[in-house]
Amino acid sequence: MAVRKDMYIKVQNKVQPHLKGMYSRACRVLPESLIMSRKYFEVKEYLGLEDAEDESSAPLQTAQAVLLARTLRNALQHVSYYRERVSLDPESIVPANAVESLRKFPLIDKQEISARPEDFISDKYSKRSLIYTTSGGSTGRGIVLWKSYDEYQVEQAFIEDMWTTYGWNRSSKILRIGADGILPPDKPPCHREDRRLLVSPRHLNEEWLDHIVDKAEDFGPQFIHTYPSCLEVLASHLKASGRSLEVKGIFLASEEVKLEQLEFFKDVFQAPICFFYGACEHALLGYGCCDGSRITYHLNPMYGFAENLEDEYGHELVGTGLWNEAMPLIRYRTQDYGRIVDGLTRCAVCGRTMRTVEQLDGRMQNYLTTKQGTRFPGLSIVVDKFIWDYASTFQFVQNQPGAIELHICPKGNLTPEVEQRIIEAQKKRLSGWFDPITLVKVPEIHLTKGGKRRLVVINEGEVPGTDRQVGQGHDG
Ligand SMILES: [Zn+2]
Repeated sequence: MAVRKDMYIKVQNKVQPHLKGMYSRACRVLPESLIMSRKYFEVKEYLGLEDAEDESSAPLQTAQAVLLARTLRNALQHVSYYRERVSLDPESIVPANAVESLRKFPLIDKQEISARPEDFISDKYSKRSLIYTTSGGSTGRGIVLWKSYDEYQVEQAFIEDMWTTYGWNRSSKILRIGADGILPPDKPPCHREDRRLLVSPRHLNEEWLDHIVDKAEDFGPQFIHTYPSCLEVLASHLKASGRSLEVKGIFLASEEVKLEQLEFFKDVFQAPICFFYGACEHALLGYGCCDGSRITYHLNPMYGFAENLEDEYGHELVGTGLWNEAMPLIRYRTQDYGRIVDGLTRCAVCGRTMRTVEQLDGRMQNYLTTKQGTRFPGLSIVVDKFIWDYASTFQFVQNQPGAIELHICPKGNLTPEVEQRIIEAQKKRLSGWFDPITLVKVPEIHLTKGGKRRLVVINEGEVPGTDRQVGQGHDG
């Protein structure tokens, strides 16, 4: 069985990238009714509701209750893990008692799913018909996920809805720097794929940056779709070389976003920036919103049902995805931390009325240990914007509890005075928690298999009581 399972995964790993290319072209040239599934249209209908951004409205509350009841019934009827542990008659679950019913389900986490992944797959599906993916990607610590074709289109519907508000449509030209553009170092970094110019994130270095900007200029993208760490390198190069790229908007994904990054990107590109909180488990979707002094995330009630669980790290986000039918994750502990504000108020910045994560502290594996032995969210460390004038990228590294290193890839103009300025600024803010605080110049920051930068790397061995391991981050 294990051999057969490996074979599916191997075949899928080979075929998936080719299918993705064909699929994006098909989406553009064929009528929607031919390639999109019933669920895609269902999501669009929900997102098209008159008050789709107002969770306090009756239609939205009804919609969430209907989706939650359906999700729970499906889990009890078709998924052995829940059937064996929850003594509820699936037929008894209706929208009016959906939330109350949800509370009778156990909390689940990555370890529980990894121990018995098969038990989470619905008996309505054969694995042959499902698409395999992992959360945690190259690091090997993620969970295995099985999704139907429909469920990918559900995700697509939510993302498209988000992008559309920035003027995107299926004919838009996109400069994409990300995992799907990765090429070997001996090949040039750019290639065209339908309406996208794909750039290999591993080629974002002095040798190739001018070439990449030339190609991008010729291509004339309307949008840039990338990871914040890749955009840092590109923006820093544009600023230093006095060049620019005019785009209508920037779509960030897959990594944490820091306020300083948003400010820097706004300075360089003068374009609106779309970013969100989400993961490949598809449990929650939070729309990023920035009022100029802090970042919050508004959770879409039609995507997932959110709960907060308090523990030693803070407020963990627990999500129940409302569209995962083949492998439902109910009350899934995301290992991401952020407190959800009580009550519903209309956001003065974007106008949404949704439950809001007031401060995303990030992933459990990004918590540093202070010299007092307490936890400190790595995402909350402030970065000075002037750093991008002297370094292309950076990373925080903890090799022993209580200490912290700021690793930077220096540009040619980094002087000892500037180094001093960078480190003193950090000491001023952080010396109450960390000692020593040091600056380390490195020729490059090691990227994950998917070309992402880990903002925080912790090399202090395993932390008892968690599945955290040395220096590993999310690569979803
Ligand atoms: Zn807002």
